Amino acid sequence: MDLQVKDITTVLENLAPLSSQESYDNSGLIVGDNNMQVTSVLLSLDCIEATVNEAIQVGANLIIAHHPIVFGGLKKLNGKNYVERTVIKAIKNDIAIYAIHTNIDNYKFGVNYEIAQRLGITNPKILAPKKKVLKKLVFFCPTTNADEVSQAIFKAGGGNIGEYSACSFESLGTGAFQPSKNANPTIGKAGNREKVEEKRIEVLIPSHKEGKIIHAMQAAHPYEEVAYDVYPISNVNQDEGAGMIGELEEAMDTQRFLSHVKSAFNCGTIRHTALIKDKIKTVAFCGGSGSFLLGNAKAKQADIYITGDFKYHEFFDAEDKIIIADIGHFESEQYTPNLILAILKKNFINFAFHLSKVNTNPIKYF
Ligand SMILES: [Zn+2]
Repeated sequence: MDLQVKDITTVLENLAPLSSQESYDNSGLIVGDNNMQVTSVLLSLDCIEATVNEAIQVGANLIIAHHPIVFGGLKKLNGKNYVERTVIKAIKNDIAIYAIHTNIDNYKFGVNYEIAQRLGITNPKILAPKKKVLKKLVFFCPTTNADEVSQAIFKAGGGNIGEYSACSFESLGTGAFQPSKNANPTIGKAGNREKVEEKRIEVLIPSHKEGKIIHAMQAAHPYEEVAYDVYPISNVNQDEGAGMIGELEEAMDTQRFLSHVKSAFNCGTIRHTALIKDKIKTVAFCGGSGSFLLGNAKAKQADIYITGDFKYHEFFDAEDKIIIADIGHFESEQYTPNLILAILKKNFINFAFHLSKVNTNPIKYF
């Protein structure tokens, strides 16, 4: 199969667009050329020198990692630290490095959905839905074409609210316009002010799909000039954001639940606060460093909050209202390459993908 780097990354970015990454992040193509022919792909949580060595060994010239190897920028490139050595080794061996980080954290079926599956959580929802990632599209259309144009917008990704799709609001009215002599009107004549029964249709759209949706609307609309407005709104998008929360099918004894977590994530240890609940039913979780979401987990009355990288003083914030369980940053996100593999396999049947066998966790347990 003839595949370029961009063919593979486009599939990922259709689900987890780069615009969904956090401001501090550096997701995207870090090393390499978008047009390079891909021999095979190596999937890993981190990309360090050992990962590049592994890519050379398995004949992969594209590494897709969750964590970006370059985060804060490179001022010199002389191999004095592991970041520079990794980048130099990748360039010398014509290996591209691509990172898909907070954009797949924020994706509804991303890092945290994968964790939900392994915890046995039913119906997981985003714990901290993102704000300012939705817009309202209002357009005007002759009544007879309203359905066709609406469908084109839905197909391009508009009109989704939680578990509901093809959502819109329509009201009837009268549109008026006067074509110039250079116009080519679908209805009416040059110089005559025309009045047409039209619908005003309102649809929610994700900001990152605005261009595609407007294009689809204009293509399906009968008019030469389409009247429409795009409004910024401050609603949250339930389908995008950090962390997740959901319930176990049946409440579980707390000790038993922790044993289940320990074996599901192969944890060296679980650092936790006092086990103030006998049973666990509602579980909040966030892969990676998730202490910033403790307030959200408490507000939604989760019995336990599972994440990584909690600091000593942050554990006090449990305040006997919730159990904090720090299962380790690596442990919580270790199945992210499996998730990316599943997405890619669905789209590129018969292409060679390799899951990294290098354990990149820098933390060991004694
Ligand atoms: Zn992480």
